[in-house]
Amino acid sequence: MRPPLTPVGADAPTLRADRPTTPGPTPPPPAAPMTDHNSASGARKNCIDTAAEFIAAQPGGAARTLTRHRRRPDGRCSGCVATPTPWPCTAATIARLADRITKDPA
Ligand SMILES: [Zn+2]
Repeated sequence: MRPPLTPVGADAPTLRADRPTTPGPTPPPPAAPMTDHNSASGARKNCIDTAAEFIAAQPGGAARTLTRHRRRPDGRCSGCVATPTPWPCTAATIARLADRITKDPA
């Protein structure tokens, strides 16, 4: 059985701002700035760049990949057959980037 409720006195603070403040725990220091390699998009970009550099290093690698991963008339990839994938798929994106690296190795 619950104890009876005690009526709140007129002098009891009702708003949070009216309540006495006590020092709370020290907030943690600000986190280190998220670098490109720490973020998910940064890691993905890094993986895509690495894969593109790998394909670019293979003689004819980009062309072979783009021959297989072509845009079909319905807008999907001809090479990604397990799951219908809109073109450019990841493989085509990597191959197109590799093609640019091959043509303009900076
Ligand atoms: Zn594909």
